[in-house]
Amino acid sequence: MMVRMPLARVAGKLLLPDCRPAPSPACPAAATASSSGSSNNSKPPPPPKKPKNRLRTFARTVLVTVVAGSGYILWRSYDQRHPGEQLPHDPKLPTVVVLGNGWASTAFLKELDNTGYNVVVISPRNYFLFTPLLPSVTVGTLASRSILEPTRFLTRHLKRKTEVYEGEVYEVDPEKKTVRFIDNSEIKGEVSGTEIPYDYLVYAVGAENQTFGIKGVNEHACFLKEVWDAEKIRTRIMDCIEAANFAGQPQSEIDRLLSFVVVGGGPTGVEYAGELHDFLKEDLGNWYPELADKINITLIEALPSVLPMFSKQLIDYTMDSFKENRIDIATKTMVKEVKEKVVVAQNEKKELVEYPYGLLVWATGNTARQVTRDLMSRLSTTQNSRRGLLVDEHMRLIGADGIFALGDCTATNYAPTAQVASQQGKYLARAMAKLHKKEQLLKDLEQAKQAGAEPAKLDSLANAVIRASNIAPFHYSHQGSLAYIGSDKAIADLPVFSGNLAAAGLATYYFWRSAYISQLFSLRNRVLVATDWLKTKVLGRYVPRQN
Ligand SMILES: Cc1cc2nc3c(=O)[nH]c(=O)nc-3n(C[C@H](O)[C@H](O)[C@H](O)COP(=O)(O)OP(=O)(O)OC[C@H]3O[C@@H](n4cnc5c(N)ncnc54)[C@H](O)[C@@H]3O)c2cc1C
Repeated sequence: MMVRMPLARVAGKLLLPDCRPAPSPACPAAATASSSGSSNNSKPPPPPKKPKNRLRTFARTVLVTVVAGSGYILWRSYDQRHPGEQLPHDPKLPTVVVLGNGWASTAFLKELDNTGYNVVVISPRNYFLFTPLLPSVTVGTLASRSILEPTRFLTRHLKRKTEVYEGEVYEVDPEKKTVRFIDNSEIKGEVSGTEIPYDYLVYAVGAENQTFGIKGVNEHACFLKEVWDAEKIRTRIMDCIEAANFAGQPQSEIDRLLSFVVVGGGPTGVEYAGELHDFLKEDLGNWYPELADKINITLIEALPSVLPMFSKQLIDYTMDSFKENRIDIATKTMVKEVKEKVVVAQNEKKELVEYPYGLLVWATGNTARQVTRDLMSRLSTTQNSRRGLLVDEHMRLIGADGIFALGDCTATNYAPTAQVASQQGKYLARAMAKLHKKEQLLKDLEQAKQAGAEPAKLDSLANAVIRASNIAPFHYSHQGSLAYIGSDKAIADLPVFSGNLAAAGLATYYFWRSAYISQLFSLRNRVLVATDWLKTKVLGRYVPRQN
């Protein structure tokens, strides 16, 4: 009985709708309805779905999505962690030396088909850093490892074996076509410096922090460029809080220690100020309630407004939002000197003002690295820009043979952004594939000539060489500008057709998050970042000083 009952019910449910549309003696219910004349021949409305059915469908959909999603993640991570066999180093092929593993180089390596080249990567760090999310590391919204991607995770998936050396290049000789580099880590082997030759050099060493030579910046300020900068800031924030909380601390010293000053109103400075505000409001207020109200954030900017690259209404929106969040903005204010505990600046009225600080973060843009300046001085007849390396429209370094320069180390009409650097990297990878094809075709043409091939065959090969030589110049396609401004709000300037869409607020914040999740280079990073965001929402940020 226990088994039969449900079976009979199921059969009834399945059969009933089938027999309704075609009345027949075998289906008395339908026959009665049509003969009574009380209704027309059209289909009776389907019975309303029971909520139980809907729940079941929903549960099945969720189950299928979870199983498919987990399967995909498992398969992708297995694939990532088990790279296949690679072609060996081939001494007959040209050598491409890539300097750096930031946005430009990583995009280049990711796009590159290196079957035709031996590739060597040299960089002082052995990972790629996703800089747009670095401000979130300063307050522990994200863990630093979530936005790092080891370079070998990428190079081990290339078709031909690729060397990766952790080292700092200090000299490029464009005449001899060599680079010299050293191991600048704490532990060194017997060999800690060497020189290697290149046929092609991809020069993408980025830039260093601009201080305008202002006294005291290097000694007293924190920068926000590398992952260790973000970790240092995080430790110092907690140092300031604990020092302010120390027994018997005088009020004036508490006020200074709880003053967080940011110099630079570009996206980095604004995003850091927004993240700091969230940390103070959402977390520190609970654990240090007596200090929370005394904390003060000030952003100093020399220009008349913050975020000059954004549209006017988004600048106003950011200024209003900062005012609401009690973040002070001092525009038209130029820092003159940084002392151990005080920033000295000149305001709009040309008066000298002092900003006491517990922590100072300096984010005022880029300047060329020493190795870049040295390269420029070797090519002084053609390299005369103070902003960086001059390149032609194919990213070739002007005045040198076989060197391509990409990203923040160049002086172009584009802003120094990750978007520009990665598009240049991808462009160069495609250009190098064409270059390889051209060289192969030239060899084929030479061999065909020597073998006395027919004129038609020679013509077709010569035309193929011409086509492969035709490499289009680099063209930048702007995908929009995004910035997080704190309190779950972001701003976005997005190109739409030939116009611009300016958006701000909570929805833009979710757009900002989804845009960055999709741009992260690996599935591993996507999972880690998404998990960190969830952890921060549910469990709060991690307050202890240790990372
Ligand atoms: C906090 C922060 C937030 C940002 N947010 C955004 C954003 O939201 N959107 C955006 O588009 N851009 C953003 N940027 C800018 C963006 O990160 C840069 O424009 C981009 O990193 C430039 O890429 P790059 O490859 O030229 O240089 P980098 O990415 O800086 O890479 C340079 C590489 O060269 C290596 N290197 C340095 N010196 C040497 C040497 N001597 N020898 C060999 N290698 C060397 C470095 O280790 C590094 O691997 C942000 C930058 C920062 C700092």
